[in-house]
Amino acid sequence: MDLRTVMLLLAVGSFLFGLLLLVFKFNKDNPHEVPFWIAAKLLQAAGSLMLYFRTIHFESFTVLANTVLLLGFAYEAWAVRILAGRLVKRWMHITTSAGIVLACLISLFLASHYRTGLVFFLQSVFFLLPGMFLFRKSEKISSLRSLLAICYCGAGIVFLIGSFVCFSSPEYVLNLEKGALFAIIPFVSYCIFLISVFILLMLAKERSEMQALQIQKNLEKSKIQFQIIVETALEGILIFDNQYRITFANNKMASVLGYTVDEMLGRPYYSFFPESDMQIYKQQESLRKKGKDSVYECCLLRKDGQKHWFLVSAKAILDESGRFEGSFGMLTDINQRKEMELQLEESNRQLTELSNKDSLTGIANRRLFDATLEQEYSRLRRTKSRLSVILFDLDFFKAYNDYYGHVMGDECLRRIGGVLNDCITRSIDLAARYGGEEFACILPDTDLEPAVKIAEKIRQRIMDLKIEHKKSPVSEYVTASFGVTTVQYSPETSLEDIIATADKLLYKAKTSGRNRIEYGEYKA
Ligand code: GH3
Ligand code: MG
Ligand code: MG
Repeated sequence: MDLRTVMLLLAVGSFLFGLLLLVFKFNKDNPHEVPFWIAAKLLQAAGSLMLYFRTIHFESFTVLANTVLLLGFAYEAWAVRILAGRLVKRWMHITTSAGIVLACLISLFLASHYRTGLVFFLQSVFFLLPGMFLFRKSEKISSLRSLLAICYCGAGIVFLIGSFVCFSSPEYVLNLEKGALFAIIPFVSYCIFLISVFILLMLAKERSEMQALQIQKNLEKSKIQFQIIVETALEGILIFDNQYRITFANNKMASVLGYTVDEMLGRPYYSFFPESDMQIYKQQESLRKKGKDSVYECCLLRKDGQKHWFLVSAKAILDESGRFEGSFGMLTDINQRKEMELQLEESNRQLTELSNKDSLTGIANRRLFDATLEQEYSRLRRTKSRLSVILFDLDFFKAYNDYYGHVMGDECLRRIGGVLNDCITRSIDLAARYGGEEFACILPDTDLEPAVKIAEKIRQRIMDLKIEHKKSPVSEYVTASFGVTTVQYSPETSLEDIIATADKLLYKAKTSGRNRIEYGEYKA
């Protein structure tokens, strides 16, 4: 077999092999892709084909062919390095490629036997290098690897001897076609090509299987780690799909809600929300669907129907294109804390109510009266509106107490409280026990005339109670005297001034016969 025929066979063989590698590259189920390999084979095919067509008269074409072929062998060396489990740095292959191009350019200016010697020498380097890479990774050298390494080293040595001969005996090279060495070189090249094709393919398969095994091992490891974390976590963990159905729940989560894990799987998240809290669910769902994470408090329904409080830290799960795929929730049990908080809130509310309530009559006490008057009066400054105050006092109540006793006296006061509750119905008005047998009302946004009407209504209703009062010189029943005043905001007027005016009018009602109403606008 002469050199040209070998070159043609190498060209066809390398091209077919390159095509095979391309098929592997685009076959997603079986990706045996090794970087540099396709480029190596296609360069080798091109280089061999060019050598096949070369003529002795056009030397630059031969040099170009040698450059392409040598680049192909260099790339194959890097592919083998990767197959041997090592990295190829960018600078490595770039400087090598540049070196090859430079060496081939220089060879243009050399005598033809030196040029052949240089090409043989470089070729020997790119056969010896992969041989070394395969041997160096010594801890797990497979028989395939050693065989391939021996082939590469053998070829490397043959080319090295060839280059040595070219440099030392030019006469031999001039007799090229007849030399035994030049019968061996094409033969060696072809054998190496055939052997390496099969071994390299097997190594690539071995490599991808190893990679798959490693990926599976890592996956298995992270799965175990994930399970340990999930099952030892003090928090409940829930994972939802894009329909917000549970796809994962840990034991902690299931047991707090009184379910088994299997019972929870597939259930929609909203089914755990009480009807009254559905707004929270909807708000959180829409946040997650926008890819937003959040931390929120909510109560979920347990299997027995009881509510249980959680602090939820929720995270949206998005795919590579940012589409909502589901969400992840870490739920901390805050039921005890929340119940205590709610109890505390309730007792605070009761406490405030008690501290503002008169225990005998059940209406507001003096404290709330004072606070409300201050608040309403300061509001007048902004609204420029008017406010009325009614102050009334039961007539001859000392005598009532003395005659009927304190228990009856208290009962009478309680019934007066009831009258106020009935007569003062607007939510902004306030009726209070001002002290002893004195009562007071605050009527915001109310003029004198309607305020007097309300006072008259109260006076009438007290009489309608027909509480016997034998010791009253003005009536056979319990009566009251009223002072009513209306005020507009003025910086010179204090709250005390308002009360004093109402009190003066009340006194006037007392002195002018009792069981009556005296009224007047407040004048600063
Ligand atoms: P006037 O018509 O001038 O108001 O005469 P009065 O007797 O009602 O006035 P005075 O201030 O002399 O007496 C008020 C009485 O109200 C004294 C007290 O016996 C009675 N009183 C005050 N607070 C209470 C209470 O909480 N319970 C009872 N049973 N009586 C009370
Ligand atoms: Mg009094
Ligand atoms: Mg009195």
